[in-house]
Amino acid sequence: MENKIYYKVPTNMNDLKTTNNNAEKGFNLGSYEPVIGLEVHCQLKTNTKLFCSCSVNFGDLPNANTCPICLGYPGVLPVINKTAVDFAIMMAKAIEAEIRTTSVFSRKQYFYPDLPKGYQITQYDLPYCENGRIVLSSGKEIGITRIHMEEDAGKSVHGDKRSFIDLNRAGTPLLEIVTDPVLSSPSEASEYLKKIRLIAQYLEISDGNLEEGSFRCDANVSLKRIGSDQLGTRVEIKNLNSYRNIEKAITYEIFRQKDLLDNGEKIVQETVLYDPSSGKTQSMRGKEDSHDYRYFPDPDLKPLILTEDRIENIISKMPELPEARKMRFISDYKIASDDAVALTNDKALADFFEESIGLADKVVLPKTIANWVLSDYLKEVHKHHLPIINTRITSKTFSELLNLISNDTISGKIAKTVIEVMAETGDSPKAIVEAKGLVQIIDKSAIAEAIDKVLDENPNQLEQYLSGKEKLLGFFVGQVMKLSKGKFNPGLVNETLKVHINERSKK
Ligand code: ADP
Ligand code: MG
Ligand code: ZN
Repeated sequence: MENKIYYKVPTNMNDLKTTNNNAEKGFNLGSYEPVIGLEVHCQLKTNTKLFCSCSVNFGDLPNANTCPICLGYPGVLPVINKTAVDFAIMMAKAIEAEIRTTSVFSRKQYFYPDLPKGYQITQYDLPYCENGRIVLSSGKEIGITRIHMEEDAGKSVHGDKRSFIDLNRAGTPLLEIVTDPVLSSPSEASEYLKKIRLIAQYLEISDGNLEEGSFRCDANVSLKRIGSDQLGTRVEIKNLNSYRNIEKAITYEIFRQKDLLDNGEKIVQETVLYDPSSGKTQSMRGKEDSHDYRYFPDPDLKPLILTEDRIENIISKMPELPEARKMRFISDYKIASDDAVALTNDKALADFFEESIGLADKVVLPKTIANWVLSDYLKEVHKHHLPIINTRITSKTFSELLNLISNDTISGKIAKTVIEVMAETGDSPKAIVEAKGLVQIIDKSAIAEAIDKVLDENPNQLEQYLSGKEKLLGFFVGQVMKLSKGKFNPGLVNETLKVHINERSKK
């Protein structure tokens, strides 16, 4: 059996033997299929660290946010952060997982300069959450093996001649979300990640920022024979900090492994780093097995007990999730499913849309608002490279613009110019329309006068129109609009033109 998925092969794979035969067409994997499992580290947006009261503020002076607990002094006692646990419960609920009522924190021992204690506090054999799922747009269900809570390590900063240690991040609360080995393509992997990140943003438990490292992902990749249950040896890719890189790194790794297998070689279980500049993965270290870490329950921390009451209480206060919001948009606002997806895929955009509905006159349909948000508004947002919350157009000025269209003050065409100015200056549409004299003309006699002028000046076109060339109506509308410099109400022009032409045909 052939795997019919063709991959576009990146140019950096020319040195792989496999790609030499057929590079233009892209590649299929023959009798192999990829198996991918993802580990996501999601930094929780708490005020303080997981086991001490140090701030987790990003960008403070190195080592400013430290204390004997997160510096790993002997004899200190960690105390669990309640908010971090509440956030963890929300995530578990959002992926429809089971919550373990008595979970255990363990020590994972390893030496690293940015890990002053010599161990990381994490959850091992008894994590607080297991058996969740995410459903992809194809309908495929991605099983989530587990989520556990753990603390982050510090950061090593490598200078020219010296290296530095910044322990501000040591002890920051993380959720590690681990999938089953069931993803089968680079695009499935990135869709899954986007869904998890969106959920974290909707729950407001994490910034989900890949670039800043508050959302990090390791991808485990192996190949197996199609139809076989036997998984191949996995390679773990670290250092993935954008969706593009994640897809490219996984693709590269799939072909690197196929190349080795085709040549009768074995895959070594190891950890590799992705280098975005070369587009390749490079071996970093052999992969430890878990017994190398000598996990054992942390004697300083009691088992974490989550009562039904506490879980129920958190769940009752949980914000709406992306999927639910999408369904609500479709049913309440009668907008197309694709539009609902586009709006809810970004929480700030969905908020902007709903605020605008609240502020606009009731006669402006949500459907019209959705169209304007997804076309002209987004165009301006992208043009100015600003995140939605920093864009100069606010839901207040935006809804004002829609009101001006609906009450015939300006035409839709003029509104397109006005919104450009709004994005530049942040001014209100009313002010812009007044300053530029853009108010739409609905004076019927002025329109009639212009129409007569145009009909008088173009007798040939009129004759052609009357003998059946109906397309010429657009020409007349255009000429009339031109006379008004675009300020006539186009609907009125259209209507009146037909009446006048009709009258002339009877003469
Ligand atoms: P570790 O911390 O040692 O990497 P985890 O259990 O945290 O172990 O994560 C293992 C990840 O690797 C999971 O996402 C799992 O689905 C994935 N995985 C396990 N075996 C394979 C395999 N053969 N091919 C691809 N992914 C795999
Ligand atoms: Mg791992
Ligand atoms: Zn501390």
